[in-house]
Amino acid sequence: MSSIFTKIINGEIPCYKVAETDDFLAFLDINPNAKGHTLCIPKKEVDKIFDLDEETYNALMQFSRKVAIAIEKVIPCKRVGMSVIGLEVPHVHVHLIPLNSMEDARFLNKESLTKEEFEVTAKAISNAL
Ligand code: AMP
Repeated sequence: MSSIFTKIINGEIPCYKVAETDDFLAFLDINPNAKGHTLCIPKKEVDKIFDLDEETYNALMQFSRKVAIAIEKVIPCKRVGMSVIGLEVPHVHVHLIPLNSMEDARFLNKESLTKEEFEVTAKAISNAL
């Protein structure tokens, strides 16, 4: 069965898209630690990040770096942090999280955004790429 992220890639489930290439997609996390929390994924469905072939792994990091730089331009924060967890969705994803305190990195406090806020945020990051 396809992962929920493969369904997003295929357009079967909507997302707030930030960036897309032939091989990667970036979209806002639906339950964000902070406004601008973005997930970067390879279109190739692989569960664990260190099982990616080296070329895809390196390209995912390059893609994530570009998105992180764009996030930092438009979302007020001290820095953008990067985490890889994967306990919930078995499809490689890099969390890019605007950080103002350690709390933002702990996946405990969540920010609720309206649909419009998600849309505006995704567009702002996308425009900063
Ligand atoms: P983890 O697998 O533990 O790294 O967490 C998976 C992340 O994916 C969580 O932060 C979820 O909020 C996020 N997530 C799950 N489903 C969706 C979705 N349909 N759109 C955007 N983000 C999602």
